Amino acid sequence: MSTFQDLGLNDDLLQAITDLGFTKPSEVQEKAIPILLNSETDLVALAQTGTGKTAAFGFPMLQKIDVNSRTTQGVILSPTRELCLQITNEMKLYGKYCKGLNVVAVYGGASITDQAREIKRGAQIIVATPGRMKDMINRRLVDISKIQYSVLDEADEMLNMGFKEDITDILSHTPTDKSTWLFSATMPREVASIAKNFMHNPQEITVGNKNESTSQVSHEYYLVNARDRYQALKRLADANPDIFSVIFCRTKRDTQKVAERLIEDGYSAGALHGDLSQNQRDLVMKSFRNKQIQMLVATDVAARGIDVDDVTHVINYQLPDEIETYTHRSGRTGRAGKTGVSMVIVSKSEVRKIKSIERIIKKQFTKKEIPNGMEICEVQLMSLANKVHNTEVNHDIDAYLGDINTLFEDTSKEELIKKFFSVEFTRFYNYYQKALDLNISTSNDDHKDSGNSVRYFINVGKKDGFDWMSLKDFLKEVLELGQDDVFKVEAKDTFSFFNTEKEQQEKILSFFTDYKYNGRFVNVEVSEKRRGGGRRDRNRGRRRDDRRSGSGSNSGNKGGRRSDNKSKSRRSNKSGDFASSRPRRSRR
Ligand code: AMP
Repeated sequence: MSTFQDLGLNDDLLQAITDLGFTKPSEVQEKAIPILLNSETDLVALAQTGTGKTAAFGFPMLQKIDVNSRTTQGVILSPTRELCLQITNEMKLYGKYCKGLNVVAVYGGASITDQAREIKRGAQIIVATPGRMKDMINRRLVDISKIQYSVLDEADEMLNMGFKEDITDILSHTPTDKSTWLFSATMPREVASIAKNFMHNPQEITVGNKNESTSQVSHEYYLVNARDRYQALKRLADANPDIFSVIFCRTKRDTQKVAERLIEDGYSAGALHGDLSQNQRDLVMKSFRNKQIQMLVATDVAARGIDVDDVTHVINYQLPDEIETYTHRSGRTGRAGKTGVSMVIVSKSEVRKIKSIERIIKKQFTKKEIPNGMEICEVQLMSLANKVHNTEVNHDIDAYLGDINTLFEDTSKEELIKKFFSVEFTRFYNYYQKALDLNISTSNDDHKDSGNSVRYFINVGKKDGFDWMSLKDFLKEVLELGQDDVFKVEAKDTFSFFNTEKEQQEKILSFFTDYKYNGRFVNVEVSEKRRGGGRRDRNRGRRRDDRRSGSGSNSGNKGGRRSDNKSKSRRSNKSGDFASSRPRRSRR
């Protein structure tokens, strides 16, 4: 194991490293720094976020550039504004003793004039998101024609986000003899093709296995009915009282909804997604960093570049569409040498994806059970007991102790302890004592009937371009329902079936009295039989008589929403965890 000195770093950098408290190089630093310092070479490095990769390219770049020149010598491209700012901050910290160094961040959503002004002052290193960089090149606000070093950071993410053309365009404005250092967590074909087309005999390093997720992270999955997802999430949070987590949802809408429900239920949660303004996102991130928010509910795109080191849990509320994205999600925990847990709440229909993810991350998942109510009560009680035990006495309460002692004069120590802990325990106990088991076994029907669900027939199916998943998304969207409110969706050729809880029946039938899809009225009826092809109930929804008129007509491609259907449905309690809100706790 080498030291930072052994790697050949100069005194300015070593001094900054000491200030930062880095005692030894991380694996990626140990591998990359000597290569980059000792040769002018291209490099492909497979490394996760959180492995210290910023310093792996940052230290060599800082050592190699000429701080006495005002010419831009290095460009670092990163996928998101957050990451761009994070890299800029790190570079400034690493280069704090490099006199004359000017590192400038260039990203969308902030004043381009201010950024141009900063660059004009002489930026040896520009850290940029591709869109804004391209814009500035086109407006001739930057000159990158003399750079010697370019870094493509989180290259897989940049390509995922559709930046390929921008990157190509940006690189076309740089000298061909520069060195390019590409860092990526995974190596999909597109990244390999960038390496092939834009780099010359790159040296390659891999930290851990290709595509392997961070070794400090353990992976767990919990198998539940799709509609119990939210209750499962709450239990996981309650079973981990000191949780500091990022919760991933598939869509912006689900992200917002889950965050809102958590807040309503007394958790310190916040949403992070692309429909929020930059200002709102900054505020949420600030609260998360300050740990005022314990549960950050985020979309994959918005969560890119989250630079928080002590996330204890990543919770996959839903699995991502692209399983490769899982690597990025789980990489939000287990950073900077800490351990972390990546949990997946999974329904039976998705459980096969776990196997595919295991192949990608080359690690095994542990199948775990959602804790039952009493287990949670116990965890909460013991957590409180430990907190009390470890609390430093605040002597400002001495003045009040006389009265308190009088009050408890006749209470024994045992009795007092019982009473004290009952305050917290009873709240959780009352909430959880009747809680159902949320776990299902793989052999169970995923959508076991709660006895309170209704099956519907709908006259659209595969011929209308739906499969079960897109039909579920469509129903959720038009009916403004949550992720788990529509289940057991079965798409046939010309018709389909789906279930909802009984509470939604009226809303659903009345919505589809007057709704057209592809110019055709959509007919929804309560179905008598649970599964495929059964006889339908004559008790149909209140339908317009002209419902089949206009079939195949040309009144537009998409469905038409009735203007009066604006109201949002409030969900009632469905899972057996009674009442939608849990006992309120003072969570900071
Ligand atoms: P990165 O992978 O660059 O996002 O780095 C993750 C975190 O690890 C950052 O907060 C760095 O400041 C920190 N870090 C980087 N290198 C080291 C090191 N050698 N020792 C300890 N922490 C480090």
